[in-house]
Amino acid sequence: MTVHILCDFDGTITAEDNIIALMKAFAPPEWVELKDAILAQDISIRSGVGQLFDLLPSSERTAYRDYLVERIALRPGFTAFLADVRQNEWHFDVVSGGMDFFVQPILDGLVGSEHIFCNVADFSGETVTVAWPHACDDQCTNDCGCCKPTIARRIVDSNDRLIVIGDSVTDFEIAKRADFVYARGQLITLCEAEGIPFAPFETFHDITHHLQEVTV
Ligand SMILES: [Mg+2]
Ligand SMILES: [Zn+2]
Repeated sequence: MTVHILCDFDGTITAEDNIIALMKAFAPPEWVELKDAILAQDISIRSGVGQLFDLLPSSERTAYRDYLVERIALRPGFTAFLADVRQNEWHFDVVSGGMDFFVQPILDGLVGSEHIFCNVADFSGETVTVAWPHACDDQCTNDCGCCKPTIARRIVDSNDRLIVIGDSVTDFEIAKRADFVYARGQLITLCEAEGIPFAPFETFHDITHHLQEVTV
C-alpha cells in the first residue's frame, strides 16, 4: 500500500509558528486578539490570517523574510526523516497555511517546490494581502484559507494510506480524513475529542520509527 504523508510546516517542521513569530516582532498589539479568535475557531482561518497580514506594512518585506529565515530552527530529525521518506518510497507533500516568502526559502534544497503547497503573500499594496491559491473547493465550507482537504482531494490517491503530521487547529479538517495522525500541541486535544487515531510526537525520529512499524 502506498503511504502518502501530508505534513504541516509551522510548528511542525519548524520548532515555532512563523506567523506568530512574525506578528510578535512586527505587528501592533491587535494581533493577539485575532490569533486567539482563530485558535478558538471564532473566526475562520482565512479571515483571521488575512486580517493578521493586513496589520503589516508591505514596505518591510525584506525585513520579514530575513527575520524568519535567520531565526528558523527545524524540528530535530526532519532531514533524516526526508531520507527515510525517499528510502521507503513514501509520497510526501508539505501543506502549509504559511506564506511562500518564508516557507520556500526555508525548505529550499530539502523539499522540491512541486511538493510544497502554501499561501502566497502579495506586497503590492500598502499592507500585505494574502492570495489563497488553495482555497476551499465546493466540498469544504470551513473557509480554511489554505484548504488541506481540498489539496488532499487533488493530490492523494483514494487508495493510499493518508498520514497527517501537524500541530494545530489548521490541521484538524485534514486530520479528520487521515488514516493516522502524528500530532503535537492543540491537535492532540482535537484528535482526542474527535476520536481520531493519532500518536503524539516530539521529533521526526519518533515518526519514522512508528511509521516503519505500522507499514511493514
Ligand atoms: Mg502548524
Ligand atoms: Zn477548506
